[in-house]
Amino acid sequence: MIEFKNVSKRYDNTPAVNDCSFSIPSHKFCVLIGPSGCGKTTMLRTVNRLVIPNEGAVLIDDTNVADIPVTKLRKKIGYVIQTIGLFPHMTVEKNISVVPKLLKWEKNRISKRVDEMLDLVGLEPKQYKKKRTSELSGGEAQRIGVARALASDPPILLMDEPFGAVDPINREILQQSFLKIQRELKKTILFVTHDMDEALKMADIIAIMKNGELIQFNSPLEILSKPENEFVKSFFGTDRIMKRLSMLKAKDYLQEEPENSPKDQPKITITKDFSLKDALSILFEKNVDSAQFITEKETGFLSMPVIREASGDGYVE
Ligand code: ADP
Repeated sequence: MIEFKNVSKRYDNTPAVNDCSFSIPSHKFCVLIGPSGCGKTTMLRTVNRLVIPNEGAVLIDDTNVADIPVTKLRKKIGYVIQTIGLFPHMTVEKNISVVPKLLKWEKNRISKRVDEMLDLVGLEPKQYKKKRTSELSGGEAQRIGVARALASDPPILLMDEPFGAVDPINREILQQSFLKIQRELKKTILFVTHDMDEALKMADIIAIMKNGELIQFNSPLEILSKPENEFVKSFFGTDRIMKRLSMLKAKDYLQEEPENSPKDQPKITITKDFSLKDALSILFEKNVDSAQFITEKETGFLSMPVIREASGDGYVE
């Protein structure tokens, strides 16, 4: 677990982070989001002691990071940044081996690990190992950045806008493949972004900051349905309700047939991932108030009131 306890950091008496407290449970993916300059990077860097708070403390599994020797601390933490920070004169293999070498792993173990990491990030080891990082595309270089951060199998990953410089199509591919990796590895992750769609897609928990302060700390669904204030509402945009519906699975909301429902309701076969937003589109498309939905395992009815209820308390504004 990573715990921020009343963390404050000032530069020339101007607060960059002001009295922030929250905890990230082990194996969870926490996205830190907010407008540029709100203190996200400062906060993230307090974890690996690139920034020392003026007040407060950061604890990892109940130990204050200030009490852990910095080299020992950083061996536990993978760090991925937007500008990647790969060594351009080194091959891909050498870049991925940096931390395992520092940890004095055996040569064979390192070589095996490099292959595993390249496989993990979807790059063919034989083809990529000997390439110089200057020969890589932006998306490939980001994958190597992730592979390098994961190479020594650290329990914690800090990621600072890791996909920010990649074009939208490659960003989507990187996000999907990184989520797949996380489902397997279950690291404790703190991930900084200013992209709300990225936050909603990736996070187990979202921490929203503004002007150095923590505004809300909740699951994506909770934030979409119960935004703390106008700032959060506006940050998540006017299609917040549709976003929430797109995150809810239709199969989880199937009901008994409503009383007095018309006899000839449409019957729609859906997959298990069909969302309430998809269901709403179907009701609009068929111009009906309810329909029967059939998945491989279950069957039931969805109606406008059920979808409205599920959309959260923001619906009636
Ligand atoms: P974000 O990551 O949300 O864009 P930062 O944490 O990078 O924000 O910065 C928060 C504030 O602290 C900004 O106003 C920034 O200018 C200031 N700041 C960050 N690092 C330094 C520094 N090393 N020296 C002076 N001011 C800094």
